Amino acid sequence: MTRIPRYRRAVVTGGAGFIGSHLCDALIQAGTAVVCVDNFLTGSRDNIAHLLGSDRFELLEQDVNDKLAVDGEVDLVLHLASPASPADYLRHPIPTLSVGSVGTLSALELARDRAARFVLASTSEVYGDPHQHPQTESYWGNVNPIGPRSVYDEAKRFAEAATAAYRREYGTDTAIVRIFNTFGPHMRADDGRAVPAFITRALRGQQLQVAGDGSQSRSLCYVDDTVAGLLAVAASDHAGPVNLGTEDERTVLEIARLVLDLTGSTGGIEFVDLPTDDPARRRPDTSLARREFGWVPRTAVSDGLAATIAWFTEQLTAKAAR
Ligand code: NAD
Repeated sequence: MTRIPRYRRAVVTGGAGFIGSHLCDALIQAGTAVVCVDNFLTGSRDNIAHLLGSDRFELLEQDVNDKLAVDGEVDLVLHLASPASPADYLRHPIPTLSVGSVGTLSALELARDRAARFVLASTSEVYGDPHQHPQTESYWGNVNPIGPRSVYDEAKRFAEAATAAYRREYGTDTAIVRIFNTFGPHMRADDGRAVPAFITRALRGQQLQVAGDGSQSRSLCYVDDTVAGLLAVAASDHAGPVNLGTEDERTVLEIARLVLDLTGSTGGIEFVDLPTDDPARRRPDTSLARREFGWVPRTAVSDGLAATIAWFTEQLTAKAAR
């Protein structure tokens, strides 16, 4: 069962991004005041536009790498600020390294200063191209430290190290959550991730571009489930790391075919080059989250994709009408 944290005022860094905006929604619905900190590097005002009228919501437009200009009580810091899609972090390699390192220290300082609970949104990418399947939290990973993706992987590994050190050195009440591939409304059509790319191309009747031969696998978790998991960890005093994701492993080709079915698109599939260091398999072992928090993803991939397709359809229709 998901526990909703009874926090009074939370800071969500990266709150205008894909996952962050859903997290802001859930916190506000649970009665928590939210300060969303974002510099809009990869986020969007549209994701939080509906919250701007709420007296429980504040937007602080700033770089999280600078000292956070948040006054008053804060009892929860959820640190999500970071480019997350490969296209984004390859386009912004140095900002990705900075926000994972300097930005994480800055968010940790705020949590330490206010004696707040701190939750780091880390990633399955800390496992790199894993040799162990499924990946348990005790696996140390297989990361190329100098490859193009290392700007993200190593920044998140630093962020984890910093989070663990603040807990040891200062007794800050920290937690690390390792999020696996998440999808849903509020993803950008052009963020380079497979799901929005497949959906928008299918809706436009274009061919879906599958990297390699499509046999690489991903486990897709719907955003509502990821948010429920983040909040369950936030509500506990667990230090983590905790994997969040689904164990429903699919090949990228299967996901493409599912999108074609659900959209009724006849655009078909074309095969394109595989990016460097693209992980061959990704599948979390989520028994820790199940055991500690009773957390299980509740949304079937096909239902989540249908909801995401409905949202992208609305977006494309609204854009066409403008
Ligand atoms: P996103 O790009 O949609 O959101 C990130 C947000 O952080 C954006 O709004 C961006 O503008 C903001 N940001 C970036 N740098 C900043 C800075 N220096 N100062 C202030 N704001 C900054 O990404 P997302 O998919 O919502 O991912 C959110 C978090 O979850 C990230 O930390 C990511 O690493 C982690 N995560 C996501 C996934 C996934 O599948 N989406 C998987 C694993 C981990």
